[in-house]
Amino acid sequence: MKLQDFAAAAAQGGPLDYQQVAFDYTRHADQDAPAPVRRPVVVVGGGPVGLALAIDLARKNVPVVVLEGGSALSTGSRAICFAKRTLEIFDRLGCAQPMVDKGVSWKVGRVYFGGEEVYRFDLLPEAGHERPAFINLQQYYVEGYLVQRAATLPGIDLRWRNKVTGLVQGGDGARLTIETPEGSYELDADYVAACDGSRSQLRALMGQESKGRVFRDRFLIADITMDAPEPPPGRPKAAGAPSGGSEPREAGSVGALPSAPSRAETPKSSGTPPTRKPGARPQRSRIQASIDVVVVLPWVPATASTCRPCSTCSASHCGPLV
Ligand SMILES: Cc1cc2nc3c(=O)[nH]c(=O)nc-3n(C[C@H](O)[C@H](O)[C@H](O)COP(=O)(O)OP(=O)(O)OC[C@H]3O[C@@H](n4cnc5c(N)ncnc54)[C@H](O)[C@@H]3O)c2cc1C
Repeated sequence: MKLQDFAAAAAQGGPLDYQQVAFDYTRHADQDAPAPVRRPVVVVGGGPVGLALAIDLARKNVPVVVLEGGSALSTGSRAICFAKRTLEIFDRLGCAQPMVDKGVSWKVGRVYFGGEEVYRFDLLPEAGHERPAFINLQQYYVEGYLVQRAATLPGIDLRWRNKVTGLVQGGDGARLTIETPEGSYELDADYVAACDGSRSQLRALMGQESKGRVFRDRFLIADITMDAPEPPPGRPKAAGAPSGGSEPREAGSVGALPSAPSRAETPKSSGTPPTRKPGARPQRSRIQASIDVVVVLPWVPATASTCRPCSTCSASHCGPLV
């Protein structure tokens, strides 16, 4: 799908499955230049960080090339809770409104012990704020709205399936090597922004990997659909509920998301990571038991991931589970 077609379809509010969108690769004139073309700023990575930076630069009349190795928005809910301050920044970028319109706004969190509510907290008790305390919204919608906003700014040149594989720094900039479906090309830049995620290849190419701390706990994260009479407001947490899983006591949280899915999270045992072989799938019954801790209504999985400790970032990484 062409970028402008995506933006036009989204603006018209037509049926658009953000998880199925595949953006077209388009050959750029830079690929046919006799010598590497020089650009003021190249942002590597078209995730939330790279897109937000590109929009901010373009608003300040700085032309920016965004090189994105993939051709799709992210998969699964991933970053789902967007705080008021983040929404205020998205307001500055000109794309908060569709996020607030689509997202599930909330400010009260609830903690249950079994079926009993034992604690309740209000994250925005006073009135008069322009934006809600939080919205729950799948990351692929946030990325989609950022892409739509980027498409309206002529200063942004967003190139899908342009994967950076090499970087050489010089005295006044850097030269990038970029792989595309039609072969590689080079591009010079005054500035390069490494927005290529927590496993940044660019930082590795510069010898600036982030080692971070290992997050000891493991979580099962699942996007599920259930036939709830109304979405549970906030992110109610359940603790100590009976479980068919192997852990004697389990806790977890569930957050409502727009367009059917909800997000269920249950912590798994701390310490030693599981011995499951890479790529092997865990038993369906264990997933069922874990999610049943926090979800009482019948549910079906949309996506699920397991977070595991990792030595390259301060948070956790996730791999496909089902
Ligand atoms: C399963 C899961 C659950 C999560 N849950 C939460 C949550 O509940 N709350 C929360 O706050 N966060 C959560 N996160 C983390 C959140 O998704 C990240 O913090 C967020 O995506 C970071 O955005 P980013 O733009 O820095 O990087 P990314 O989203 O990783 O984007 C980087 C982009 O760079 C591209 N790229 C990479 N290498 C290259 C290259 N060499 N050349 C060109 N392009 C490249 C990638 O294709 C990608 O599109 C979760 C993540 C996962 C995986």
